[in-house]
Amino acid sequence: MIYNEQMYELGSRRSAIRELFEYGKQRAAIVGAENVYDFSLGNPTVPAPDCVDETIRRLTEELDCIRLHGYTSAQGDIETRTAIAEFLNNTHGTHFGANDFYITMGAAASLSIAFHALATSSEDEFIAIAPFFPEYKVFVEATGASLKVVPADTKEFQIDFAALEQMVNVHTKGVIINSPNNPSGAVYSVQTIERLAKLLGEKEKEYGHPIFIIADEPYREIVYDGVEVPFVTKYYNNTLVCYSYSKSLSLPGERIGYILVPQEAYDSKALYAAVAGAGRALGYVCAPSMMQKVIAQCQGQTGDVELYKKNRDLLYEGLTKIGYECFKPQGAFYMFVKSLEEDADAFCERAKEEDLLIVSANGFGCPGYVRISYCVDEDMIKRSFGAFEKLYQTYQ
Ligand code: PLP
Repeated sequence: MIYNEQMYELGSRRSAIRELFEYGKQRAAIVGAENVYDFSLGNPTVPAPDCVDETIRRLTEELDCIRLHGYTSAQGDIETRTAIAEFLNNTHGTHFGANDFYITMGAAASLSIAFHALATSSEDEFIAIAPFFPEYKVFVEATGASLKVVPADTKEFQIDFAALEQMVNVHTKGVIINSPNNPSGAVYSVQTIERLAKLLGEKEKEYGHPIFIIADEPYREIVYDGVEVPFVTKYYNNTLVCYSYSKSLSLPGERIGYILVPQEAYDSKALYAAVAGAGRALGYVCAPSMMQKVIAQCQGQTGDVELYKKNRDLLYEGLTKIGYECFKPQGAFYMFVKSLEEDADAFCERAKEEDLLIVSANGFGCPGYVRISYCVDEDMIKRSFGAFEKLYQTYQ
């Protein structure tokens, strides 16, 4: 083929989730939008907090066009990086400086940059813990490295440490963790993070090189019932935090986030330079200028998480009452539910007959489960229970 085959493959196959979303739009045109129950996407429905709109309005009035829309420095405005460092230090008792942050176009960019910065050979391996965000495979493989997957701990959706220990080897460059988790809704406990830090610390000694934790944290603030999300750099020095404002500030289309390279990380100055170099090589130039200024003013703000909690409770109670086996989410906005037949793809196809659009977890590396995204209208959840009931009955 004259074109890059790997890229051609990626571009000609839409992700299964996008495919389902497009199907939902087609069905809505036929049967009416109110009769389609689309639980496919993780697009935040809770509005951005007021400070976002207020700041945008003020910035457009006060700033000249160069300050507002011009290029920023590649690593991001110093005011933005300073604001993030101060906020994290006040919240977590850490000691980050502005120069530890590289502002990106959301978590997807943060992850791509992180993998490119770390990968040095086609023998390199990154490890994901199932269930995992499927794009990790795309981002890792784009560097020439490979992605290995630790099977899910389907009891608690923490980490199967015996399986992880077996998988780590001399080629392991990093372990990707995502907590609160998409798709399970689990939050890794302090014990889990401590155990992970201990295991990787031992493996670093054994193999004589750093093994990074890549902490993918777009859902950090979206947690329920006072659950604590441990701040990973406090437990493990060789951590890269990949953060995004897509979910916390409901800004997924605005593309803004950051990578945190803590000074405690191995040869952190070189690592930061490699991060900046990866951003450059991938052509990011700089993150969107206006959004950089917005997040500088909106540190510590989130959309109304209580609205997601209301949806979680409504959906969890409704589905378990019907008889579905659900993992009660501690964070993010996804419910992980046991498929009613072994083949979750087939189950999701059957659900489509009731116009229920739910996502098979085969793509998340966790067969036998489906993901139901509840960042949706409360009314749609209420209307969907009849269809869920009908679906359940067909398996009895
Ligand atoms: N990581 C996880 C676990 C996600 O769920 C998502 C988006 O849904 C991303 C990364 C990418 O987020 P962003 O919009 O910030 O690129």
